[in-house]
Amino acid sequence: CKVLVSGANGYIAMWIILELLKQGYSVRATVRSVSKGKHPKKEFVKYGDKFEVVIVEDITEEGAFDEAVRDVDAIAHTASPFHFNVQRPEELIEPAVNGTVGILQSALKYGSRVKRIVITSSVAAIVHEGVVPTTFTEEDWNHQCLEIVKNLGEKAPNLMKYRASKMLAEQAAWKFVEEHKHQIRWDLAVLNPPLVFGPAIHELTNPTSLNTSAKMFYDYVADASVEAVGSNFLSQNGSCYVDVRDLAEAHRLALEKEGAGGERIIINAGVFKWQDFIDATNALSPIPRLLKPLPRGIPHSGSAHPGAVHLVSYDATKSDRILGLKYRSISNTTEGTLADYAARGW
Ligand code: NDP
Repeated sequence: CKVLVSGANGYIAMWIILELLKQGYSVRATVRSVSKGKHPKKEFVKYGDKFEVVIVEDITEEGAFDEAVRDVDAIAHTASPFHFNVQRPEELIEPAVNGTVGILQSALKYGSRVKRIVITSSVAAIVHEGVVPTTFTEEDWNHQCLEIVKNLGEKAPNLMKYRASKMLAEQAAWKFVEEHKHQIRWDLAVLNPPLVFGPAIHELTNPTSLNTSAKMFYDYVADASVEAVGSNFLSQNGSCYVDVRDLAEAHRLALEKEGAGGERIIINAGVFKWQDFIDATNALSPIPRLLKPLPRGIPHSGSAHPGAVHLVSYDATKSDRILGLKYRSISNTTEGTLADYAARGW
């Protein structure tokens, strides 16, 4: 059984590939250039010809995935920009939407063996900000970010531009499936994770090269020189997370489980405040020694504090019901991540 994974050199994709290879699948991985394929090839060398890399230079070009989808049984589409270094909203929206529709189009035309496509969407396509604590479900859609980006254009907060890119990409995917339901021989499953933390196996040179979510974890949990643990908006309002290894397993299960077809599924381990991870770090025995001193914050002022506010949470019962997914604890994610930093000499 062969799975095509797009954006293979990314943080989440590398763990998806490892999960698939470990479970005996063959993987065809897409990256944008030969040089970006070097690290994945090295990382998965022991899997021999069960792992191959192909180049898809520009995912926004029509037919970009036409060759890549041939002879694969399933697709996991993760490639999409997740960063806030952007001016025009289209810089994020175009690759997100065109990449998604493009891979579906290629699968329709040339993916004669494809049975299931899993797209890595995000809670960005679900959440909308308010002042009342809210638990969101798969029924919710983030129309708010579209309004903000429509009204403010370049002046919209970059977070809203990113959310709009994920919202529009996911909407476009479901629309494509609806419009082509009589032609396609595969079905679609969409996963909606919140912030993804945990150790990394993609190419990294230093903490600055971490991807957006893992860099946030490093800054607030492992680097006492970043002063703002308490005042960071995620600490004030709370947020949600999932361990990258659990998210990788969720992708495999979403490819395998019959019941995942036609579903969007929230993949959420639970709420957090940065202090929860800081407390978990300081509870490790021994506490890992990193290059920089670890923050202590204000011990036990996190989620367990009686006055703790969590404006946003996500109902993850569907991930249990359909995928049977079990989530790592805050302590386990912290331990794995800090051990990774220590092994890298950070
Ligand atoms: P990374 O930045 O580590 O990986 C992103 C991947 O997408 C890379 O392979 C990157 O290729 C590729 N990519 C980005 N922009 C483009 C583009 N314009 N054209 C082609 N390829 C592109 O991010 P993550 O692993 O964190 O994210 C992977 C997916 O998961 C994304 O869809 C993201 O929206 C989603 N997600 C991530 C969350 C998180 O907290 N990390 C939370 C929820 C969803 P290259 O290296 O060449 O730029």
